[in-house]
Amino acid sequence: MADAHYDPDNIFAKILRGEIPCHRIYEDAQTLAFMDVMPQGEGHTLVIPKAPARGLLDAEPESLAALMASVQRVARAVKAAFQADGLTLFQFNEPAGGQTVFHLHVHVIPRREGVPLKRHEGGMADNAVLADHAARIRAALEAEG
Ligand code: AMP
Repeated sequence: MADAHYDPDNIFAKILRGEIPCHRIYEDAQTLAFMDVMPQGEGHTLVIPKAPARGLLDAEPESLAALMASVQRVARAVKAAFQADGLTLFQFNEPAGGQTVFHLHVHVIPRREGVPLKRHEGGMADNAVLADHAARIRAALEAEG
């Protein structure tokens, strides 16, 4: 199969352009973090680069470096906000790899001992709950400075 190309009308590109809303957590010149609308656990966050890339393989190394720095920053805040025992990160590539939105993203999910993950894309979370969780993570980011 030929390599698929980046589609600028994917849903995360629309979020980056402000065409559809998100529960924003963190933003800098190169990255954006927001709540996953179908969380696999409380506090499930997505971190994306602003530079267009379909997945890991077509991203520029500089963009990946900025992405991972933001992932670490957000992961610390997510862990603190939800008093998590650990974290699970996912990054899927192409449909065979489990990817459904074709703009590079890293899932950051706080984990508690003995609490299993919910199904991937298992159902939409309540908007008010997502807003509350986003506020908790933003507060943890501010506390970290
Ligand atoms: P994947 O491409 O398999 O890593 O999954 C894409 C993720 O994006 C899923 O976990 C979805 O719940 C999530 N998602 C899809 N649309 C939105 C949206 N508009 N805002 C936030 N998260 C989304």
